[in-house]
Amino acid sequence: MPHSASSGLPPPTYALCPTCGRSVPATLGEMFCSNDGTRLLTGCPVCGQPILSPFAQHCTHCGAALLSTRGEP
Ligand SMILES: [Zn+2]
Ligand SMILES: [Zn+2]
Repeated sequence: MPHSASSGLPPPTYALCPTCGRSVPATLGEMFCSNDGTRLLTGCPVCGQPILSPFAQHCTHCGAALLSTRGEP
């Protein structure tokens, strides 16, 4: 199988706020959420898989929830 998609560039990864779900490109280097001051996740807290989608709510590798469920209404 051809593997032409790989040209040496790593895929973009995202930093995700587990409290409000806000995500920013990891390349921005933000460490904390500008909405609520929560430390951003740069990968799955369980397996360490990078977050590859800005809309991810669960780890694509192990299925762990990325968003905190604390404070639900
Ligand atoms: Zn937040
Ligand atoms: Zn995981």
